[in-house]
Amino acid sequence: MLDNLSQRLARVVKTIKGEARLTEANTQEMLREIRIALLEADVALPVVRDFVAKVREKALGQDVLQSLTPGQALVGIVNRELAELMGGKAAELSFATQPPAIILMAGLQGAGKTTTVGKLAKWLRENLKKKVLTVSCDVYRPAAIEQLRTVTEQAGADFFPSTPQQKPADIARDALQWAKTHYHDVLLVDTAGRLAIDEQMMAEIAQLHAQLKPIETLFVVDAMQGQDAVNTARAFNETLPLTGVVLTKLDGDSRGGAALSVKAITGKPIKFVGVGEKLTGLESFHPERMANRILG
Ligand code: GDP
Repeated sequence: MLDNLSQRLARVVKTIKGEARLTEANTQEMLREIRIALLEADVALPVVRDFVAKVREKALGQDVLQSLTPGQALVGIVNRELAELMGGKAAELSFATQPPAIILMAGLQGAGKTTTVGKLAKWLRENLKKKVLTVSCDVYRPAAIEQLRTVTEQAGADFFPSTPQQKPADIARDALQWAKTHYHDVLLVDTAGRLAIDEQMMAEIAQLHAQLKPIETLFVVDAMQGQDAVNTARAFNETLPLTGVVLTKLDGDSRGGAALSVKAITGKPIKFVGVGEKLTGLESFHPERMANRILG
C-alpha cells in the first residue's frame, strides 16, 4: 500500500536522521525531496504546497534547531503533519440516532460501492455486533441488486429484496419500515452509480438523502483515480452532505495521493479503506497509523 511514496519518503527520512546538524540549506533540500515525493504520489498541488510550508515553518523553529537530534525532530514533524493532513484522529462511524442507523452509500459505477456494502455489513457484524440489513436502490442494473444479495449473504447479514420496477424512494421507505419492525441496528443503502456525475443521479440520491436523513453518508471512491477521485468527492460533497469517504483499491498500484488529499480538499475524513476484493478487505482508517506506515 502506497509503496512508492513510502519508499521515497523513507529515503528522505534516512538522510534527515543522518544529518548531525540541520541548516537552512539542508532543510530546504529535504523539503524539496518531500515535495517531489508527494507530487509523484499524485497529491494535489495546493495540498503539497500547504504541507511543505507547514513543515518548513515548524522545522525552522527553535525547538528543532536546538534539539539534540534535530534530524529526528524533523522526522517527527513530518510524521505529525502527515497524520494531521489525513484528518488527525480516526473518524469513526456515528450511531447516535434511534436505530436503525442509516448509512447511505454514494459513488460512481465501478468505484466498489456494492462490494463495500458487503464488507461493511461484515465489519459491523463482526466488530460491533450490529444486526445489519442491506438494500439496493439501484433500479437501473438488475445485476447490481443480485450482486448485493450475494455479498450480503456472504457477510451473514440480512438482505431486503428490491426490483428494477420499483422507485428508489419506495424501496427505501419499505426497507426502513422492515428494519424498524425487525430490530435491525443498521440499514445499509446501496444506490445507483453512473459512469460520470450527472444531474439525474445527483437529484435521485439527494432525494433519498432528504427522505432517509441518514446518520452517515459515505462516498465510495477508487484510489486508482488519483486526483480525479478527490475532485469527484468534492463535487458530490457540494450536492450531498457527506460524512465520510471510503477509499477503495488501495491494495492496487495506486500512487496513494488520494489518501493524502481527500481530507484537505473535501473537508471530509476517510473512514475506511478497501484493501482487496474479498469481504475481509476493509480497514478502518487511522491517520496516525497510516502516517507511520508511509514513513516506514
Ligand atoms: P460498484 O459499481 O461501485 O458497485 O462497484 P463494485 O462493488 O461492483 O466493484 C467494482 C470492482 O472493483 C469489482 O471487481 C470489485 O471486486 C473491485 N473492488 C472493490 N473494492 C476493491 C478493493 O478494495 N480492492 C480491489 N483490488 N478491488 C476492489
